[in-house]
Amino acid sequence: MKKEIRTVSETVKAIKDGAASPDGACRSFLSRAGNDTLGAFITLTPEEAYRGAVSVEERLKNGEDLPLAGVPVAVKDNICVAGVRCTCASRMLGNYVPAYSATVWERLERAGAVLVGKTNLDEFAMGSSGETSFFGGVRNPYDRSRVAGGSSGGSAAAVAAGCAAASLGSDTGGSSRLPASFCGIVALKPTYGTVSRFGLVSFAPSLEQICPMTLTVEDTELIYRVISGADPRDMTSVDPAPAEGKQISRMNIALWSPPGVTEDVTGALRDAAGMLEASGAHVTGIDSFFDPAEAAAVYIAVSSAEASSTLSRYDGIRYGFSAGTPSRTRGEGFGEGVKDRLVTGAYVLTEDGGSLYGRALSHRARLVALAEEVTSRYDVILMPAARSAAHRPGDGAGPAEDGFSDISNLSGTPSLTVPVKLNGDGLPVGVGLLAARFREAVLFAAGRAIERARGAFPHPSGEVE
Ligand code: GLN
Repeated sequence: MKKEIRTVSETVKAIKDGAASPDGACRSFLSRAGNDTLGAFITLTPEEAYRGAVSVEERLKNGEDLPLAGVPVAVKDNICVAGVRCTCASRMLGNYVPAYSATVWERLERAGAVLVGKTNLDEFAMGSSGETSFFGGVRNPYDRSRVAGGSSGGSAAAVAAGCAAASLGSDTGGSSRLPASFCGIVALKPTYGTVSRFGLVSFAPSLEQICPMTLTVEDTELIYRVISGADPRDMTSVDPAPAEGKQISRMNIALWSPPGVTEDVTGALRDAAGMLEASGAHVTGIDSFFDPAEAAAVYIAVSSAEASSTLSRYDGIRYGFSAGTPSRTRGEGFGEGVKDRLVTGAYVLTEDGGSLYGRALSHRARLVALAEEVTSRYDVILMPAARSAAHRPGDGAGPAEDGFSDISNLSGTPSLTVPVKLNGDGLPVGVGLLAARFREAVLFAAGRAIERARGAFPHPSGEVE
């Protein structure tokens, strides 16, 4: 049987070699996306995709060098693409059609990517399970009775199920890395600022980044290379450091295998440490790093405070849903989870709560110092990406689920999730890799070493390529 094209690098190679046309590659991904019963998409964009494929074909004929020629990409529905509705999975923006595209999408399109559709998420990216979308929840491609994780659940499910070769997620406190772990794919939360946030609908600007989500580390690297780099339209953006690779045999890796996670996760950490060691890395166990409960509490205070300001623009006057008055608009336009966050954020910022926000900031500073100190001593920290494999709807731990991933958002450090194994129930389990700011190259090298030692990861349908 002819091997199906699934990854970014396979697509680029097949098109370069003439084994597939952009139109043909696009068709096979789109047909899977068209049959999506996981709830991965809010909007499918076959017309944009075919139009994109035709333009890629022409640009290739004109001799343009396109690093992502004909690569089908799905974009989280809180990232703007001009002319395509962008709902944030909320009634509030159910009919909002942006007039401009996010910088990341402009860069992907320039590199030859085509748009498959906009993916489902927890409303306004607030959530860890992918269940709170106004349009219905996302199911896990490995087991439909489980969640895909959140908030970028649609982006993770779409890639795992072969509906797109890559997707974009966003990550404020783990929203790309946690669903990647639940769905058996790779995700990078880049160093803060290295990817422009222009065109990302804001939730908590001091924490969030747009993230590549793909089947392989190589693909994540390809997408990161295209979307990263300073952007005059985002004043917090900076260029990534020139790739300073390091041989795996020269790496010092810390293994942090904390309590409070399932046996599966502990096992995946042990396996990944063994794989890194077998590749020549020096792995040392560390007993303590930070308290995930503290990180989660700081995250909730800071992100909710920021959300109460960024979401104040939805008043029904300028755009989006309107129910007459601003308070009715907000009462009816936002779901319960979002309203809870806004109440929390407003309280944290009141005079009574003011000391709370101040305290959260000083805890944040302490966690930043800790992350900087530990990541300066080791090339990579190998740690949990999530507490468990995918759970059933309703069984999640809420925002506390992200205690392990929050540290990288609070401190701006990069973090990569890599799938390691399937557990006894056939569900994927990933691990997290954390490094000092601007050291993505080291994360990629460690991630590739895990992949090489692990071998091909089984697709949801059970086949292994
Ligand atoms: N799960 C966290 C929350 O509920 C993080 C969300 C995110 O990273 N966007 O806010």
